[in-house]
Amino acid sequence: MQIEKKDIRALSKDQLRDFFVANNDKAFRGNQVYEWLWSKGAHSFEDMTNVAKTTRSMLEDNFVINHIKVDTMQRSSDGTVKNAVRLHDGLVVESVLIPTETRTTACVSSQVGCSLDCNFCATARLKRMRNLEAGEIYDQVIAIDKESRLYHNHPLSNIVFMGMGEPLMNYNNVIKAIDMITSPEGLGMSPKRIMVSTSGIPKMIKKMADDDVKFKLAVSLHSAIDEVRARIMPFSKNFPLADLREALEYWYRKTKNKISYEYVVWKGINDDKASIDALVKFCKYVPCKVNLIEYNPIDDGEFQQASEESILAYIKALENIGVVCKVRRSRGKDIDAACGQLANKEGSVD
Ligand code: SAH
Repeated sequence: MQIEKKDIRALSKDQLRDFFVANNDKAFRGNQVYEWLWSKGAHSFEDMTNVAKTTRSMLEDNFVINHIKVDTMQRSSDGTVKNAVRLHDGLVVESVLIPTETRTTACVSSQVGCSLDCNFCATARLKRMRNLEAGEIYDQVIAIDKESRLYHNHPLSNIVFMGMGEPLMNYNNVIKAIDMITSPEGLGMSPKRIMVSTSGIPKMIKKMADDDVKFKLAVSLHSAIDEVRARIMPFSKNFPLADLREALEYWYRKTKNKISYEYVVWKGINDDKASIDALVKFCKYVPCKVNLIEYNPIDDGEFQQASEESILAYIKALENIGVVCKVRRSRGKDIDAACGQLANKEGSVD
């Protein structure tokens, strides 16, 4: 029976060192190979030119390198780039490069499809097919960093985990990927430039705080009223706002890091005074800011962007209590690259 070979990038540096020692080689060989895998981004063992041929074939016998491949790259009229990324098993995820005057931000995926069921999000309709490996998350970032250098003449400046999937449902691999991105062997990026966005899983928010993570946290709130939230994000029935609030208070106590709430205002859903009052109240619990995201329609018309007037009412109410509030206009809409539009329309996911 053919035994499936393990992806070598699932091994930590220590595990790789141990592997070489167990195979009668020197531990430092582990460092050398680790550097090839991460800093030099080797796609095959063949690439590792300063590693002896016998060692390379020994690695070949034991492991694979599951590298991603950018299948198609689309460029929007506003400069946004969307990559359809093919994984080793043929599945596809998407990642996006969002340029502004001062920075380039990568929006990366953490799962193929999504574990959650937000009614307004195209990715949710794909269901969760599998979690991404740390290397697959890392590769998306590297691909976008290359595009940033190519089109904007500077390295990637920020990363948001706002692509496909719920990062906290793939916590270990997301953390491993961030560790690589921030390590000197990876991109050496400051964790302060990385934001993980969650639909709000209280237990995992507390775990992140306990793990003393240094990146920023965004929570897709969309409503501060349990019944409304449960209607638009059905999974949230299991995570009442009181629990979310407690977890966020815990997060702030431990990390002293402000939280960003992501919030879309929809006509007839959360554009009333009660919704505004509830958000204002919720914002008082933990230091925070609010990003009002423009809604990107996902074809069935159930959700519609609220009027300019209701958005202004939100802004005014938040300003009154001193909460910074930004309106985020969509980017890359013409190529289905905006928030909630990632659904592999171009690539096949079979
Ligand atoms: N699961 C994570 C990250 C992926 S979604 C999370 O929920 O935070 C990234 C952001 O896009 C979230 O704030 C999400 O609520 C928002 N979003 C989803 N669908 C959208 C749509 N159709 N229009 C605008 N924003 C959307």
